[in-house]
Amino acid sequence: MTHPAQPKASHFINGEYVEDTAGTPIPVIYAATGEQIATVHAATPAIVEQALSTAKAAQTAWARMTGTERGRILRRAADIMRERNHDLSVLETYDTGKPLQETLVADATSGADALEYFGGLAASLTGEHIPLGEDWVYTKREALGLCVGIGAWNYPTQIACWKGAPALACGNAMVFKPSETTPLCALKVAEILIEAGAPAGVFNVVQGMGEVGGALVTDPRVDKVSLTGSVPTGKKVYAAAAEGMKHVTMELGGKSPLIIFDDADIDNAVGGAINGNFYSSGQVCSNGTRVFVQKGIKEKFLARLAERTGNAILGDPMDEATSFGPMVTENQMNIVLGYIEKGKEEGARLICGGKRADMDGYFIEPTVFADVTDDMTIAREEIFGPVMSVLDFDTEEEVVARANDTEFGLSAGVFTKDFTRAHRVIGNLEAGSCFINSYNDAPVEAPFGGVKASGVGRENSKEAIKHFSQVKSVYVRMGDVEAAF
Ligand code: NAD
Repeated sequence: MTHPAQPKASHFINGEYVEDTAGTPIPVIYAATGEQIATVHAATPAIVEQALSTAKAAQTAWARMTGTERGRILRRAADIMRERNHDLSVLETYDTGKPLQETLVADATSGADALEYFGGLAASLTGEHIPLGEDWVYTKREALGLCVGIGAWNYPTQIACWKGAPALACGNAMVFKPSETTPLCALKVAEILIEAGAPAGVFNVVQGMGEVGGALVTDPRVDKVSLTGSVPTGKKVYAAAAEGMKHVTMELGGKSPLIIFDDADIDNAVGGAINGNFYSSGQVCSNGTRVFVQKGIKEKFLARLAERTGNAILGDPMDEATSFGPMVTENQMNIVLGYIEKGKEEGARLICGGKRADMDGYFIEPTVFADVTDDMTIAREEIFGPVMSVLDFDTEEEVVARANDTEFGLSAGVFTKDFTRAHRVIGNLEAGSCFINSYNDAPVEAPFGGVKASGVGRENSKEAIKHFSQVKSVYVRMGDVEAAF
């Protein structure tokens, strides 16, 4: 019997599902059981061509609609997503393995927020009038044209919406390629947009690995590429886009610091560290995986952290009581287990977890290492799994320098009751998305993105509009033209 997660076809182009079984089969594995639940096929060159030419053709008319009309469609799509939140959350859980307890509140809902927010902004995208005596300049905020979105596997619905919603609000068309690991959810976003009244072809989904992503990025018709992925992929995609002078948004990896001063509320700080390391089993780019704890509260912090981490419920992700799911794939599980071994070998002190859980699926116990030093592999490299490194520090000056000593710069957090210090520390940290006495909140109203190797551009908020539109400036002369000859 066909599994309910099996989509009608692999791709969604020009308002309908499209199949081409000549493409390499991509198995979809449910991470909680290891069972294959669906198959899609990577896009063939013919499918890539169909998606790009369709999107290109649909874009002009879409951009000519008023912002109010485009916005209404996006907001209708948001309502449909919220009505179907339960089914979409179940699908997200099949796609990623993340527990339903999370997907019910963090995925389709977050996608709907983006559709609603950018739907609301669509009608407000205007230019300026700049008086110059008798003459004047006016500016127009125009769409970029054809945009490509490429997703990572941790938030397949959210990533499709965080890219699709601002792109469409500005009058662009999009071809979106989900991660080959989680191909299912973006198809539903495409389906819902059509149902909400989006013209066929403005949001298309094609499946495939890096090769398909590469074909999209290098196509001369494409004006912009927005990638969520790892730093090595980001470097390749950025370089390929630069070749064609295309706009880019790069949402890449991190190894973010979370700094806890000894005046912090311990339970809140522990809660922040848990949210910043164990949500989605640690598969979150902005995670605060280097937890710097001031020496005075170190043992108290570790004791409370171990106690609360022991309350994680590993189990069937479809059971709403489960609060901690598996790694997305067996491969990702093995990568993370390799890092845990490195932590042990390099002398970090294991506080809890540290191994694969004794159950079906790709579960790793939530793991905390203490006495981690700056040079250890687990403190330097992005692990993308449930492995928290706790490091000690004495002074503010020292911890800021150590926190910044990394190629990454996605996020940073600080817990302290001293508000002057909180703002000073955040001001000195090299990171794009920061938190004070909190961690990993990502409301659509707030800009999201990194500095240094963690990325270029911002998603969400009014900032995202700047990255999906461009300004045309028009000089208007009222009098005669003076010329030298
Ligand atoms: P990845 O870099 O392996 O793949 C990301 C996407 O890029 C996939 O869809 C993949 O098929 C595609 N791709 C790979 N090579 C390509 C190429 N040469 N040209 C075009 N496309 C190509 O990342 P992943 O393993 O799917 O996701 C995990 C990574 O993503 C982590 O580093 C994580 O930190 C990062 N991430 C960042 C954010 C953020 O917003 N900053 C969010 C989620 C994940």
